[in-house]
Amino acid sequence: MKNRIIPLLRALVKINSVNATLSGGPGEKEISGFVRRYLTKLGLDPEIQPTDPHRTNVVAIIPGINPNDTLLLNGHLDTVGVEGMDAPFSLRQAGDKLYGRGTYDMKGSIAIMLLLAEYFTRHPPPISILFTFVADEEDRSAGMEYLVKRWLPEFFPLPFGGIFLEPTELDIGVSHKGVSWYEIEVFGKAAHGSRPSEGVDAILPLRSALAELNDIQSELLNSEADPLLGHATLHASIIDGGTALSIIPRRSRLQWERRTLPGESQTRVDLELERVIQSVKIFPGDHRVKGREIFVRPPYKVSKTAKILTRLQDASPHSKLVGLSFWSDSALCGQAGIPSVLFGPIGHGAHAVDEWVSLKSLIRVYEILKKLIVSFEVPVSH
Ligand SMILES: [Zn+2]
Repeated sequence: MKNRIIPLLRALVKINSVNATLSGGPGEKEISGFVRRYLTKLGLDPEIQPTDPHRTNVVAIIPGINPNDTLLLNGHLDTVGVEGMDAPFSLRQAGDKLYGRGTYDMKGSIAIMLLLAEYFTRHPPPISILFTFVADEEDRSAGMEYLVKRWLPEFFPLPFGGIFLEPTELDIGVSHKGVSWYEIEVFGKAAHGSRPSEGVDAILPLRSALAELNDIQSELLNSEADPLLGHATLHASIIDGGTALSIIPRRSRLQWERRTLPGESQTRVDLELERVIQSVKIFPGDHRVKGREIFVRPPYKVSKTAKILTRLQDASPHSKLVGLSFWSDSALCGQAGIPSVLFGPIGHGAHAVDEWVSLKSLIRVYEILKKLIVSFEVPVSH
């Protein structure tokens, strides 16, 4: 197996699968074709899911001796962009480190999934294994959305658990924050700067909005922290408005991001938008304001007693339980009724120019997942 990882990862890295909507790359079409052909050669019957004209998931199942018990293994096929990298698509080895775009996040794990598929097509597993290779994790999760909304509802019974092979330094990711994006727009009336009484300034009222966001931020930092994830946070992200120095601005816009904790009610988080709108309304002047929620991704925390968690802990007793700073597709899977954890290799530079993954840690991930699956062995009856 060890000798197989490097050539397989080299072939995966060579295929440019930079996310199309996030970074203007070619997307997942070519790499999903590679994965499909690999699985077909193993004798499996992979299904290609065109989630939209440019994006494709690949799913395949290896039936187990107990076919009703299914484990889901998931990886995403896309990567972030490659700006500033010298040779992003050619794998380079330096000792234990394998460099290249996607080695760590997460083509190393895609290689492990393919090698596990290869092993378990030759050694029938005690439980069924559902392999899901999805598109668009790095942007809007179109692949996982398609899977959980359009495909998984037909799958019966649902997998008892999912493992997302995102890079976790061989720890077990049990929770992560959610993300909510908001914006307000303020409308005034344009006028020449020499005649301010004829206009309504649409930028000055943002002062109240920013002060309100600052208050909310302080409240969040003073409220109870999650033991693994810390505090909920927010930050002002984008501000724009105005057309020229000598013109009273007729429009302005402020956008911000809120990172939510498991257990926070989304309805309460949405009330913060109302607070900001109200603060702008009471700012003196004849401006108007409207606001909206742009995008919401839920936070996630797996139950302590979920079978997938206890089994993975048994298979990897040295792994710590950790909260992860990044959002992951596992939240959508968890919401769809499949308790999910994150478990993957050691490395560095996800989304950076010096991305690498540890070869030894990839081998560990492979061995631990194999051990986990085999641990479901049906007891021999005498
Ligand atoms: Zn990732």
